[in-house]
Amino acid sequence: MIRFLLVDDDAHGLYMLRSLLEGHGFMVETAVNGQDALEKARLTPPDMIISDILMPVLDGFSLCRAWMQHEHLRSIPFIFYSATYTDAKDEALALSLGAVRFIVKPAEPVDLVTTIETVFKELGDGRLVIPQPPEEEEPVYLKKYNERLIRKLENKMVELEQANQHLKVLYWASTNLTAVRPMRELIYHALRTIVDAMGYAKANYFAFDEESQHFYLLEAIEYTAEELAQLQRQLVFRLGEARGLVGLVGQNRQPLILNETTSDPRWVTIDKTLHSALFVPVIHEERLLGVISMFSAEPNAFTQEHTRDMMTLANNVAIAMENSRLYEAQQQYAEQLEAQVAARTAELQVALEQAQAADKLKSQFVSNMNHELRTPLSVIKLSLELLVHGRPENWARYINTLNRETERLQIMVEEVLDISRLDLGSTKVYLEPVDLNQLIGNLIMDRIELAAAKGLTLDYEPVNDFPLVLADKQLIFQVLTNLLVNAINYTSKGGVMVCTGTAVIDNQKWLTASVSDTGPGISDEDKAHLFERFYRGEASQKSSASGTGLGLAICQEIMDRHQGRISVASAQDEGSTFTIWLRPAPSFALE
Ligand code: ADP
Repeated sequence: MIRFLLVDDDAHGLYMLRSLLEGHGFMVETAVNGQDALEKARLTPPDMIISDILMPVLDGFSLCRAWMQHEHLRSIPFIFYSATYTDAKDEALALSLGAVRFIVKPAEPVDLVTTIETVFKELGDGRLVIPQPPEEEEPVYLKKYNERLIRKLENKMVELEQANQHLKVLYWASTNLTAVRPMRELIYHALRTIVDAMGYAKANYFAFDEESQHFYLLEAIEYTAEELAQLQRQLVFRLGEARGLVGLVGQNRQPLILNETTSDPRWVTIDKTLHSALFVPVIHEERLLGVISMFSAEPNAFTQEHTRDMMTLANNVAIAMENSRLYEAQQQYAEQLEAQVAARTAELQVALEQAQAADKLKSQFVSNMNHELRTPLSVIKLSLELLVHGRPENWARYINTLNRETERLQIMVEEVLDISRLDLGSTKVYLEPVDLNQLIGNLIMDRIELAAAKGLTLDYEPVNDFPLVLADKQLIFQVLTNLLVNAINYTSKGGVMVCTGTAVIDNQKWLTASVSDTGPGISDEDKAHLFERFYRGEASQKSSASGTGLGLAICQEIMDRHQGRISVASAQDEGSTFTIWLRPAPSFALE
């Protein structure tokens, strides 16, 4: 049976070849380096030796040289089977040492077996004679051998340099990406490192937008800001879209190498200098975040190793992006909380100021009330004394005064009670269709004398066919009385006019009643506070009219209960107009 000696330091390679040959019925012995092979062959010479070149202790070239110098072994065919020494000069040196064949690893099993069989056949029929190497001087052999070795070392250096670059990238990925950075900065750094360390021409990052299912170019390295902006407009891809390949890589979630861009119709040619490309998806816990694409000016620039390294990098980028997203979300949340706290503090400050202002108003009110109550009371006291001690012919006057001041007191007490009832919610509002024209007519009748006594005109201009309003008759009467009495009280010459009307605001139909006077008007400062409780403005100070500063606050409360409004328009020294706004009663609501 034919015996083989296989020499290789790589256990896997050895196993593969051994299985192949044993499968073809050959006997196989193995050795792990040249030295080991020589020892085994001297004991039991094989029928053929197949040897690797790069091995520790004694390499393939040295083994072959020793083999050919051995008187029993030199007639046994020697085949080189190598993956590292593969160029023509290696082959030349190998054959010059006496090898019958030089095969480059990995060879197809069929081809390998065919070669072996051919060698045996040719040896058998004498067509192949094992070449006897020239008895070269040791220095000549060593020179050739060193040349091959140095060449090999140079190649190894290049490989190591490349491996070093890859390591740099991976090192960067494992260290730099752990620090939390803003998303955009993080992606810029990742791309920058890829381009610098790997020597690629350009690199892009496409972010995936889940909502629109599209990829948008977020960052690109080695482009100017204007170029980037233009690319961002041009390079938008749908998930699954073949054009541009980004959408496809995102869909398949697998890296993709493009060896020659110009021969692939899916490539979007914008930059003609780019010839090959590598796309890797960026995925975090099943969630597609984006796609990194790298480009080279050379065709076939990307290998499986690049892909593997870039996938590792992409995974780390994904984790870093997720960290960054969480960090940004947290930051945003903290800012929101801060803003909420600030807003709440501001609200509390306003509430505090309002409370302080209300407190001040209440103190003012107490002193006002003190004054306002004392005045009618002292007049009442005096009138009563005069009734007892005065002349009977004046009694009618005293009784008149008594009546007036009692009424004044009564109004004041009622206003205070009104506002506290409104506050307690014990004032019930009974809404019903009300004829405002009629209500105002009654009001005018009641106050016509008061106006005349002050030398003022009091006019009323009702709108004909005025629709009914939805209101609480009594409460609205109270509002209009307040407005009318104010107008009369604060106007010294001219007169007061009441009128009804309609208005449409934001498709909402309103029925209005206005009380206008030719009084002093209201300053902007007063306007801002008129409807506050206990606020008494300039007009009250200038006139001798008594009051509580509650009238307009009550009017406002009542209008609020009607979901209506009260407004004021005024020009100083010309007069004021107070208007109330009410809803029409449903059956009369205009479309
Ligand atoms: P009071 O009349 O008891 O002072 P109100 O709440 O009715 O209280 O009015 C608040 C303030 O609004 C008045 O003190 C006055 O300064 C001002 N005011 C009200 N009506 C008029 C008006 N028709 N013309 C000028 N000022 C007015």
